[in-house]
Amino acid sequence: MLVVMKAQATEEQISAVCKKIEELGYRAHSMPGAQRTAIGITGNRGEVEPGTLDEMPGVQELIRVSKPYKLVSRDVKAENTVISFAGTDATFGGPGLAVIAGPCAIESRDQTMAVAEQVFRAGAQFFRGGAYKPRTSPYSFQGLGEQGLQIMAEVRDKFGMKIVTEAIDNESMDLVEKYADVIQIGARNMQNFSLLKRAGRARKPVLLKRGMSATLEEFLMAAEYVMSEGNYKVILCERGVRTFADHTRNTLDLSIVPAVQRLSHLPIVVDPSHGTGKRNKVTPLSRAAIAVGADGLIVEVHHEPDRAMSDGNQSLYPEQFDELMKQVRQIAPVVGRMVPAIGNHPRAEALSAQSSVRSAISPLA
Ligand code: PEP
Ligand code: MN
Repeated sequence: MLVVMKAQATEEQISAVCKKIEELGYRAHSMPGAQRTAIGITGNRGEVEPGTLDEMPGVQELIRVSKPYKLVSRDVKAENTVISFAGTDATFGGPGLAVIAGPCAIESRDQTMAVAEQVFRAGAQFFRGGAYKPRTSPYSFQGLGEQGLQIMAEVRDKFGMKIVTEAIDNESMDLVEKYADVIQIGARNMQNFSLLKRAGRARKPVLLKRGMSATLEEFLMAAEYVMSEGNYKVILCERGVRTFADHTRNTLDLSIVPAVQRLSHLPIVVDPSHGTGKRNKVTPLSRAAIAVGADGLIVEVHHEPDRAMSDGNQSLYPEQFDELMKQVRQIAPVVGRMVPAIGNHPRAEALSAQSSVRSAISPLA
C-alpha cells in the first residue's frame, strides 16, 4: 500500500500519517518527490486496511502496489534518486556520471597509492578496492582487512576521492561502515538477506551488485531488502551474468540498464571489468554503458596488472583508464550527461600545486 499525499500537504500532516501507520504496527517510508510525498507501507503480511488513513488530512489517495517491490519502484517515487556526498559534486543519478576506479584488492600501501594517484589524475571521483575479498578458492588472497580500510582512508585524505569497498559478512560490515563512503555488496552476496538487512541499517549508501544469475526482479527485490530497513541510498550495479558464452568471463547485460530505469528510481552503474573479465573489452563496453544511459562506471585499474593478487586479467593499465575517461567525456554529452571536471575535486587544487601532478591535471581540467 502506498499513501499519496496532496501536493500542498504539510510536514505535520505527513508526520501524522507516518505515526498512524506505525501505530497500526507497520513501517512507514516517507519518500518526498518533486510534486508530492508518497509514503510506502511495509511490514504488513496481507492487505493494509485503508480505514482511517484514507480520511486523514493531506491524504490524496491510497494505492495498492501490486508489484512485489515497493520502495524501489517508480510508483513510490517518480523522480530519479540522486545520491550526493558532502564536500564534492560527485553524485550517483544526477547529470554528472559517477566514475569509480581502483584495484580489485588493496594489496599494499605502495600499490594503492600508485593506482590512486593515477586514477585521480584521470578523473575518477570514487576509489574502489577490496579489503575483504570473496574468493572462489580459500587459498587465494583474502584481503588485508582493517589495514586495507585504513589505507583507503588515507587515499580519501590525500586525494579527496570517496571510498567504495565491499563488506562480505556482518562482521566486516561494522568496519566497512566505519571507513567507507559507499558500502559494496558483491554479486555472491546479492541474496544474503541478513547482510542486506544489515546494510539497510547502515548510515552509508550501498552499491549492490547483481548476482551472477539474478533476474531483474530478484535484483530489485534485493535492493528492496536494503530499503525496507530504512536505507534509501542504494546504487545498483550490473556486473555481468553467467551464460554459455565463453569468450568473456561473464556476459555484460547492458539491457538491464533501461529495464531498471523504467521500473525503478534508483541509480544504476555498470562494471565492465567483471562484466567481461578481459582487459581489451573493458573500454568498448564502458563506451556502450555510457551510451545506454548508465549513471556511471566501476572499473578495475592496476599499475602492474601482471602482478595483481586478483583480477589482473581484467585490470586496465592506468594509461588505458586515462584514455577510457577521455572517450567517456566525449560520449557523455551525446546522452545528456557530463563527467564532473577534475578541477572540482576538493583536493585537486592542493595537488595541482605540486608540479608532478599539475602537468597531468591541466590538460583535463
Ligand atoms: C569486485 O568488485 O571486486 C567483486 C568481487 O565484484 P563481484 O561481486 O561483482 O564479483
Ligand atoms: Mn575484482
